[in-house]
Amino acid sequence: MQSYFALVTFYLILLASTSFVVIPTGTDGGLNEGNLSGFFAAENGSHDAFIGLDAGNVFTGLALSDSKTFLSKYLSAVDHQNYTNVGWFFRNQIKAYFVSHSHLDHVAGLVINSADDDKFWKKPVISNPTTISKFISFIWNWDTWPNVGFTGTFPPLEIYNFTALTDGVEVPIANTSLTIELHNITHTVPTSAALVKNRYDEYLLFFGDCEADAIKNVTVMRKIWQRVAPLVRDKKLLGIFLEASFENSRPDSLLFGHLTPRYIIQEMYHLGEEVVTITPGSNLSSVLKDLTVVVTHIKPLVRNAFTDIRVTLASQFAANNTVGVKYYFPEQGRPFILTSASPFLIEDQATAPTTTSGQTSAGNTCPVCVTCPTQSATTCPTQSATTCPATTSSNGGSIASVIILGITFLLLLI
Ligand SMILES: [Zn+2]
Ligand SMILES: [Zn+2]
Repeated sequence: MQSYFALVTFYLILLASTSFVVIPTGTDGGLNEGNLSGFFAAENGSHDAFIGLDAGNVFTGLALSDSKTFLSKYLSAVDHQNYTNVGWFFRNQIKAYFVSHSHLDHVAGLVINSADDDKFWKKPVISNPTTISKFISFIWNWDTWPNVGFTGTFPPLEIYNFTALTDGVEVPIANTSLTIELHNITHTVPTSAALVKNRYDEYLLFFGDCEADAIKNVTVMRKIWQRVAPLVRDKKLLGIFLEASFENSRPDSLLFGHLTPRYIIQEMYHLGEEVVTITPGSNLSSVLKDLTVVVTHIKPLVRNAFTDIRVTLASQFAANNTVGVKYYFPEQGRPFILTSASPFLIEDQATAPTTTSGQTSAGNTCPVCVTCPTQSATTCPTQSATTCPATTSSNGGSIASVIILGITFLLLLI
C-alpha cells in the first residue's frame, strides 16, 4: 500500500510542477501607462523564483493582483513585520528580468522600481548587447535614473547585474530553475525574443514588440519557428506570447514594427509548416491544435470605434484560425497557468467584486471571451471569459482538480 501512496504523491507533485504560472502585470501597449507590457513567469511550484518578461508595469500590476487576492496564492512566507505583500514579492520572489528591447513601454516599471529592489540577489537584467549598452548609457546613468548596475556612471549601486546574451545560446538564470535563450527579431530597434525552459524541459516563448517576416521579406521569424518546431511537435512548448498592437485594417506603412491578427495568423501558419516538415504524416490542421498564443501589447484606441479593441481582435483571430491555435487574452493582475496537460491554459478563477458597468471594482475592463467574441465588455460581467461556456479557461481549475482526484482514486483502488 505504501508504494501506491508514494506513486500517488509522485503523480500529484508531477501534475503540480510541470507547468508555468504567469502573472500579467501589464497587457496593453503604449499609450496606457497604467497597463504597459509586463509578465512574471515561474515554474509552477517554484513561486520564489519568478522572472519578468518585459516590465513596462511592475508595481501597479502586482498591487492590482494583490487587491483581487490573486497574488496571495503565489506568495512565499512574507515577512509581514517589514514588508507588504507586493513589496515582498517584488524584492524576494522576482529573481531576474528579461527585457526584449529598450522602448519605454517595456522597461518603465523596471526602471521606476529599480532603486528599491533587494541588492542581495544581484538580479540579472537580461537582454541583447545593444539594449544592455543603451540601459547603461542612457537610463541607469544617474541623469535619467540612479545607476543600479555594477559598472557605468559612478557610484554604481550594485543592485542589478546587467547581462548581455549572445543570440541562440542557452544560459541558466541565477537563483531559478529556468534557462533562457535569446533570438534576435525585427522591430524598429534591436529586439530579442526569449525562449524560457523549466527543469522539466518545458518551454515558453516570449516576444516583446515584433514585426512579421512578410513586411521586409525576411526569414527572421521563420528561423525561430524552425528552432521550436520540435518542441511544438513534442508538446513541450506550452505557450507563445505574441503582440497584437493593432487590428487588421491598420496599413502596413503604419505598423512601425508591430503585428496584427492577420500577421500573427500568417506566422502561425509558418510555424505549422515547420512542424509538418519534421512530423511525417501530419497536416496543418492538427499540428498546432494544443498550442496557446497569449495575445499581448494591445494598444488602446484613441478614436472611438464603438467596439472594444479586444473584441475586434478576437473576431479577426476567430475568422481565420485555420491552424486551430488557442488565442488567449490575459487580464492585468489575473494569473494563469500554461500546462502540457489538458486543459492547456488554466485561468485563476478567484472573483473580484464587479460593478454593473462591466468593469471590475479596480477599474479594469472585463476579459473578452475569445470563443464568443461578440460578447463585448459591455455585457460583462455576466458574459465574461469566466462564464463563457466554450472557453478552455472557463473551468480549468475544477477540471484539473477532478482529474487529479480521479487518478488518485483509481490508483488507490488498484
Ligand atoms: Zn517597441
Ligand atoms: Zn512596445
